[in-house]
Amino acid sequence: MSFNIITEARRCLNCKKPMCVEGCPISTQIPTVIRTFLDGDIDKAGSMLFENNPLSVICSLICNHDNQCEGHCVLGKKSTPVHFSSIENYISDTYFDKLDDRLDPGNIEKKGKRVGVIGGGPAGITIAILLARKGYDITIFESREKIGGVLRYGIPEFRLPKQLIERYKKLLLSLGIRIRPNTAIGVTITVDDLFRDGYRAVFIGTGVWRPNTLHIKGESLGNVHFAINYLTNPEVYSLGDSLNVIGAGNSAMDVARTALRHGCKKVTVFSRSEHMAAALSEIEYAKYDGVEFVTGVEPVEITEDGTIFIKSEKNSEGKRVRVEGTEKLYPAASTIIAVSQGPKNRIVSTTTGLDISDKGLLVTNTYGETTRDGIFAAGDVVLGARTVVEAVNYSKQVAQTMDEYLQSLTD
Ligand SMILES: Cc1cc2nc3c(=O)[nH]c(=O)nc-3n(C[C@H](O)[C@H](O)[C@H](O)COP(=O)(O)OP(=O)(O)OC[C@H]3O[C@@H](n4cnc5c(N)ncnc54)[C@H](O)[C@@H]3O)c2cc1C
Ligand code: SF4
Repeated sequence: MSFNIITEARRCLNCKKPMCVEGCPISTQIPTVIRTFLDGDIDKAGSMLFENNPLSVICSLICNHDNQCEGHCVLGKKSTPVHFSSIENYISDTYFDKLDDRLDPGNIEKKGKRVGVIGGGPAGITIAILLARKGYDITIFESREKIGGVLRYGIPEFRLPKQLIERYKKLLLSLGIRIRPNTAIGVTITVDDLFRDGYRAVFIGTGVWRPNTLHIKGESLGNVHFAINYLTNPEVYSLGDSLNVIGAGNSAMDVARTALRHGCKKVTVFSRSEHMAAALSEIEYAKYDGVEFVTGVEPVEITEDGTIFIKSEKNSEGKRVRVEGTEKLYPAASTIIAVSQGPKNRIVSTTTGLDISDKGLLVTNTYGETTRDGIFAAGDVVLGARTVVEAVNYSKQVAQTMDEYLQSLTD
C-alpha cells in the first residue's frame, strides 16, 4: 500500500478534547478507534465504528472530510491533518467481511413484529440493520431495481464502487431482511395496505428525487437534462461534445466529471456565487479532470445552441443583482441543470395524516415521529438534500424511537 495507514494512525496526538470528534456529525470516537487499532485490536476498532455508524465504510469514502473530521484536526492548523477517513476505511472494510459472524444473525431473538421500510437508501438501510438486529421482521420496499438510493443512482462509480452496495445487500439478506425491488409505495401498494397486512410500524426514507427547476425558457428542450436523472444512468444520454452545467454543488461536480468520462470534450460549470457549494476536494478533482468554471453568472435562457447567462454581482447592501445588458451565450451541445432536488409526493398524496412543510418535506419531531401514529421518517425526505452521515445519524435516533414504540404496542 503506497499510503501507510499505520504511520498515519501514529500521527494522532490523542487529544484530551478531540476536535475531530466534534467535527464528525455522527461523533465517531476517532482517537479511541485509532488507539484500539494501534494496540493491535482491529476487530474491536471495526466493531466500534460499525456500532456507531453502520455505514462507516461508505462514509469514510464520501464524507466531506475537509469540513468534518479532518477539517477539525488540530494538526491541520500548522500542517496536514490526520487522514482519519483512510484509517476508517481500512478498518471498516476489513471488519465488514467478518460481520456475518460477528452479528450472528441466527441467534437474534425474534420479536414477531413486522416493520416496513420504504426506501433502500442510507436512511432505510440503517433502520433496517438496526431493527433487524433487535429481532423485528423487516421488509425494505425499493422503487428502483436495486437498493442504495443516491449511493447507487447518484454518486458515480469512480467515487464509490457499487460493489460496496452489493456487500450491504448481502449483509441485509443475512440478517433476514426481505427486499422488494421495483416496488414504489404510493403507486400500486399504499402505506395503508402495509398496516392492513400486519406491519406494526412504517419507516419512510424516500429521499429527494424531484429535480428543482429554474423556471426559465428552454428547460423542456431536447438537449437539456436534470442532474439526478442524468446520474441515474449516464450511458443512455447523448450529450454531444460540449456541456454546460448549471449549479456548483456536489451533484454538479459529479455530473461534470461523469460527462468527461463519457466522451464530452468540454465541460463548464456555471455558478452564481464565487463561493461554490461543493466540497473543496470535489472542486479540485473536477479542475484536475479538466472541468472549466465560470462564476458570478445567472442563467436566463437555455437554447439549442447553449446557455445564455447574465452577470451577477453583489450590490452595496451585499445583495446579488443582475448586471443588465451583460447577457451572453455560452455555446454547448447540451445543458444539465444541477440545482438540487425536492421530495416526490407519491406517499403523502396517498396517505392521510402526514403533514408536510412548504417544501414538501415530511414533518417529524426530533425523534422522527411523523404526524401519523406508527409512521416514522428520516434522511433527506425530512432534512432536505443533505449528506449520508446525517441521514445515518438521524436514522439511528429514529430506530431507537421505533423500537420503543413497537415495544409499547400490546399484541
Ligand atoms: C449526485 C449526488 C451526490 C452526492 N454526494 C454526496 C457525497 O459525496 N457525500 C455525502 O455524504 N452525501 C452526498 N450526497 C447526498 C446523499 O447521497 C444523501 O443525503 C443521502 O443519500 C440521503 O439518504 P436517504 O436514504 O435519505 O435518501 P436516498 O439516498 O435518496 O434514498 C431514498 C431511496 O428511496 C427510494 N424511494 C423513493 N420513493 C420511494 C417510494 N415511493 N417507494 C419505495 N422506494 C422509494 C429511492 O429509490 C431511493 O433508493 C449526494 C447527493 C447527490 C444527489
Ligand atoms: S463518519 Fe465521516 S465525518 Fe465522521 S469520522 Fe467518518 S469520515 Fe469523518
